[in-house]
Amino acid sequence: MPIQGKSFDGRQLGGLVSRLGASISLPPIMIDETTFSYVSRVLHLTSAASRAVVIRDLFGSSGVKVELPLHSGLGEFSRRLWGEKNPDVVTHHSLIAIFQAFTEPKKYKNALEKALGCEAGVHAPLGYFGKDVLFRTTPAFCPECAQQDLKKLNFAYFRRQHQIVAAEYCSAHEKKLITACDACGSSLSFFLPLGSRCHSCASDFLMKKTEIADAHRLSRIKLSQFISLILAAEIPQVSASHRIALIRKKSQGVVPSKSGCIGSNVARFLLKLYGEDFLKKLRLDPRSTPSLGWPALLLSGATMQAHPIANALLISAFWESTTDYLEEILGSGVCETDCIFHDKKLIGAFNIDTEMLRKVYHAALHNTKPPYHQNLKPWIRAYPGLQERIRSFATRNQ
Ligand SMILES: [Zn+2]
Ligand SMILES: [Zn+2]
Repeated sequence: MPIQGKSFDGRQLGGLVSRLGASISLPPIMIDETTFSYVSRVLHLTSAASRAVVIRDLFGSSGVKVELPLHSGLGEFSRRLWGEKNPDVVTHHSLIAIFQAFTEPKKYKNALEKALGCEAGVHAPLGYFGKDVLFRTTPAFCPECAQQDLKKLNFAYFRRQHQIVAAEYCSAHEKKLITACDACGSSLSFFLPLGSRCHSCASDFLMKKTEIADAHRLSRIKLSQFISLILAAEIPQVSASHRIALIRKKSQGVVPSKSGCIGSNVARFLLKLYGEDFLKKLRLDPRSTPSLGWPALLLSGATMQAHPIANALLISAFWESTTDYLEEILGSGVCETDCIFHDKKLIGAFNIDTEMLRKVYHAALHNTKPPYHQNLKPWIRAYPGLQERIRSFATRNQ
């Protein structure tokens, strides 16, 4: 679990104080609490003020939309909480942190700077994967966490790790998260504090329910736990080529294929492990176009280079534990063997073309037919112009 960087020192909420003419202190922000949850709680405690006033006083502008996962104003927010502009606020309280491990450091730094300032467009440097498939459009919570909060604190709050679509379970309690009221179907709201009862029909959220059996429960819990480590910045930033090479190598050990070509075998493995509905919901169905889909294209640029959930799905699936993964990714020698990135002729270029060409190149070099031609056919068909490129490459190298 993330440790709070600095505890709140009971600083006065200057603007609100003068407007309200009363002396109030900011409540402490809780471990892993989201900004929208904190705003709702402050608003609740200072019921005379409007939400816009609270947001302006906490984030420096009433235009900051804390219900959006990637909002700005965090520099001012950390100053309000801790007396200084502190990027740790992102590690502890912002969903931007989901991008930390798998985004190119320069791009992540750009996003971080935007987030600490008051500009909009924090998401711009991070690549577009579809916000609604990464982050929930209405909040979720764990019934066990809420119950503990109410007992210990007399209030409950929303945690960051529960707001990621791919995290269906609480990483601490392994309970299925609640996203809507069982009785009336109402979703929860970014604009209301978390309580024990539904805001629409007042039925009890925390009444013990039996969880519906789920064949994919264990793998989805493991994924949720991995996601919570990403958010807590416990998954190190390593170069994409290094990471992809390791995942690629690992995939061949876990899901061997006779041809050595990553393809439908990985797709089948992921579908079995996580379930079709789940992967579709994340828009990461491994069978989706083009052809064999994203895990087969372990070398393709966009998806595996920066998509936080695509990376999490594979790492969580291929490694027994996060510790094992960390040991391997941080250990030396990962790239020394079996790594196409150390093939001088192809260094630095990893995309679908390279993957095709690597095999053709291999064949040309050893004067044999391309070894995995059958497997490659659907890929080649799916990429316009690729067939010609391969043909000319092969001719050149004969
Ligand atoms: Zn929990
Ligand atoms: Zn209800």
